Amino acid sequence: MKILFIASELFPLIKTGGLADVAGSLPKAMHELGKDMRVLMPAYPQAKSALSNATPVAHLHLLGHSATLLSGTLPKSQIPLWLLDAPHWFERPGNPYLAEDGNPWPDNAERFGALCWAGVHLAMNRAGLDWQPDVVHCNDWQTGLVPALLSLETHRPALLFTIHNLAYQGLFPEATCTTLELPPSLWHPEGLEFHGQLSFLKGGLVYSDRINTVSPTYAREIQTPRFGYGLEGLLRHRKDRLSGILNGIDTNKWNPASDTLIAQTYDSKSLNLKKANKLALQQHFQLPSQPDQPLLAFIGRLVPQKGIDLILKAMPQLLKFPMQFVFLGSGDSDFEHGLLYWSRRHPQQMVVHIGYDEALSHQIEAGADIFLMPSRFEPCGLNQMYSQRYGTLPIVHRTGGLADTVTDATPLTLKDKTASGFSFDQPHGSALVEAVKRAWLLYTHEKDWRRLQQTAMAKDFSWRRSAQEYCRLYSQAIQDNSQIVTPA
Ligand code: ADP
Repeated sequence: MKILFIASELFPLIKTGGLADVAGSLPKAMHELGKDMRVLMPAYPQAKSALSNATPVAHLHLLGHSATLLSGTLPKSQIPLWLLDAPHWFERPGNPYLAEDGNPWPDNAERFGALCWAGVHLAMNRAGLDWQPDVVHCNDWQTGLVPALLSLETHRPALLFTIHNLAYQGLFPEATCTTLELPPSLWHPEGLEFHGQLSFLKGGLVYSDRINTVSPTYAREIQTPRFGYGLEGLLRHRKDRLSGILNGIDTNKWNPASDTLIAQTYDSKSLNLKKANKLALQQHFQLPSQPDQPLLAFIGRLVPQKGIDLILKAMPQLLKFPMQFVFLGSGDSDFEHGLLYWSRRHPQQMVVHIGYDEALSHQIEAGADIFLMPSRFEPCGLNQMYSQRYGTLPIVHRTGGLADTVTDATPLTLKDKTASGFSFDQPHGSALVEAVKRAWLLYTHEKDWRRLQQTAMAKDFSWRRSAQEYCRLYSQAIQDNSQIVTPA
């Protein structure tokens, strides 16, 4: 099976969120399953310098500009990676989507429109590379025009579109259709038009053979008005083609038994060693050394999605618990200031590190006892999985991937030994406080807590399992595509 995977970010070359982790991991897992997966992404400066030996293999003419396909391999692998080198669009420092002022680059439609056109040339074997995929796997709005454009081809590969986050849709004025050289036949309410605007995302949702999202619960949620952003009707219409596959995590990188970034390695049989990481973390942040007090952590983007407003609302009550709090993240300045306010008032109990720090995130996962993730919505989420692997029990809002990966500690799940964390149903500060209280109470029952940690650490969050599910989905997409009767 030959698969072309198209993404706008890929770890470790460039990352703003979970999509990059998927793009960095799934191709490797696919190769381990013997599949020929190749990757296309833009040649951002970070990607070009990491792949300094990438060589030009094709020249393309895209939207009035010339571009080059550079051929290299994914770091530490033999997996083919094509970089779309178009300095005019991609030779910009920093964030792949946003300018320094925090606003989207004004030419994002052209930048990712060009990526889509390059994907179409590769998919139809028109780039002169003598390779045609059986399946094109597109990801998020930046790749949404690929299925739309390929739907116009007679002999096209099968199409899978993965929604990593429905909140980002790639909406642009109608006139953009001309700039992007989109055939007028795609412009209608059952096509790329969304309330008078061009929607990249709809291209993926309408024209793909199969659609999936990154957890079964999120796949159901986005069919409702609360989570559907106006696309719930379309998603319900396509529900027979829509499914959810949980993301995996990089179990080598996130392994407390071999993690070189943490003070003390440990596994589920030597959990008493974990405390050394808490002491190291307390020392790092100049918090009082309190080996027996629970330490609660948060890592993530400080944006409304992640439920920071709930945390801020709950902070006065949370600070009444004999607990320490560590926050790592950056994002909306209101949220940053809100958290900093509480840490300044309670410096012995709460610290906030504003920024993005990969090593520190490992140290926090290893050193904390409890991980808080009260996201208002969460397509999959990674940190709750890292946390369980590190025996750091998560407290989550029961939504999306959080609902699918964390088993709430109830009398029943404690008894049948499936409990692996704590969850709450309503996204309210008071529900969050109640869940923290339950965690705090259980923490004092050392034997029960240890059992939860061991259950959490034994869970299989590997990419291998998810990759096998993707293989099945690719086969279904191929079958669906073969049943399409193309007009004579
Ligand atoms: P999202 O994609 O919505 O941001 P995910 O949980 O799917 O959320 O993925 C976020 C990823 O980014 C995780 O790997 C998380 O550890 C990482 N991350 C987020 N913020 C930070 C930060 N400030 N420092 C280090 N890692 C971070």
